[in-house]
Amino acid sequence: MNSAWLIHAPQGYGKWQALQQAAAALLCESPRVAQPQQQAQSRLPAPLAQHIACGQCASCALLQAGAHPDLLVVAPESAWSALGLQLAAEEGAAATPKSASDDIRIEQIRRLNDWAVSTSHRGRAKVALIYPADALNPAAANALLKTLEEPPPTVQFLLGAHRLDALLPTIRSRCRLAALPRPADDDAAQPKGAAGAAVRAWCQGAIHQADPAAGLDWAQTLLDIASRSSRRPASSALPPPPDFATGVAALLKIGSDLQRVQVGAAPLYLPQQATALAALAGRIAALQLAEAMRALASKQRLAGFPLNQALASDTLLLEFAQLLSSGD
Ligand SMILES: [Zn+2]
Repeated sequence: MNSAWLIHAPQGYGKWQALQQAAAALLCESPRVAQPQQQAQSRLPAPLAQHIACGQCASCALLQAGAHPDLLVVAPESAWSALGLQLAAEEGAAATPKSASDDIRIEQIRRLNDWAVSTSHRGRAKVALIYPADALNPAAANALLKTLEEPPPTVQFLLGAHRLDALLPTIRSRCRLAALPRPADDDAAQPKGAAGAAVRAWCQGAIHQADPAAGLDWAQTLLDIASRSSRRPASSALPPPPDFATGVAALLKIGSDLQRVQVGAAPLYLPQQATALAALAGRIAALQLAEAMRALASKQRLAGFPLNQALASDTLLLEFAQLLSSGD
């Protein structure tokens, strides 16, 4: 059995989402057999499309919390927030987007190689997701090649690439190649119109999520209120989030967009709120924002646990309001 898949397709074809789906199904402890329609919808090669994750087992819960020890995601630092990985993906790494690397660096592959030979935490498969493989710099590609030549039997490698010709031929030859077909344009589930565009940006195209618009209304209201006054709003003037986990996830997206705007990039999750984001970005200190993002990422790990929801949400709003005046 070949333990490395290389899924390739132009940017915007939904490779990241497809790879995450495949990883979830491989790690799931009670995967379901995919119906023919679901197989077709996934657009993945048959061996990766046969099963879908149950969404309910311990492994699926760990994945949803972004804390599965048997999944390792290797991506360039500059792509983390766009991929929804945030800072939790790698502790202690560069927190400011300015210093974030566009490459997958050799240190990341060395960490991958160490992880690959360690024992599976949950006694099942381990999945290494490398995306985009185009970003492997030459040293990193060579280090990865060594592992692909003698892959540990328990590790399934999933690589995604925008352009095959950007990869070392030796890497390509170690993988099973599959092109991800173009997504169907007339997908009935695709949200339409301006509201649809906002939802697609908010969930970064993952419209098959249970609720792709979760937290979007709240985030928009929060930004409206915060940008309307030039002073720091009282946290009691801010609406409570739908629930704590949604609030944390939404604030991570707002924070990530603020970081992008601060370095002159366009907002990713809230493109329609560009003006409000620009107004706020100027009032917030970059360092405080990075700190807040780090704190939110660790809150996200706790978000699945029962706690005093109202109190936790209040604290969230207070911290957000404080952040707004950090640049004064
Ligand atoms: Zn499961």
